[in-house]
Amino acid sequence: MTTIFSGIINGDAPADIVYRDKLVTAFRDIHPVASTHILIVPNEEIATANGLTEEYEELAGRMLVVAAQLAREEGVAESGYRLIINCNPDGGQEVYHLHLHLIGGRPLGPMILRE
Ligand code: 5GP
Repeated sequence: MTTIFSGIINGDAPADIVYRDKLVTAFRDIHPVASTHILIVPNEEIATANGLTEEYEELAGRMLVVAAQLAREEGVAESGYRLIINCNPDGGQEVYHLHLHLIGGRPLGPMILRE
């Protein structure tokens, strides 16, 4: 299923793109929850983290390496940040094109609210 993220990757939809290579594109979240909020997105349409089969090891690694590089460039590597992949309804996924959130620039509190 094609989402707005494919439009951004293809250049058909606007976004503040901060990094691009043959495997991934990274752009600023339209509704940031902190001063740094970047989405690292596979160029290929993979709907959820469940699609990360063995053939995508290089891609999955690239997503993490790019996140660490962008954290350094954003100046949050030392203060800290959070990397999040939401998967399916219980994970709170809204856009069904796999993406890694890089969030930093303020204390982010507990990882998950306890019930
Ligand atoms: P999810 O809940 O699926 O993990 O996160 C989806 C994220 O995509 C949300 O943080 C949302 O703000 C962001 N988002 C949704 N539509 C757009 C868009 O058109 N452009 C950008 N830059 N971010 C978007």
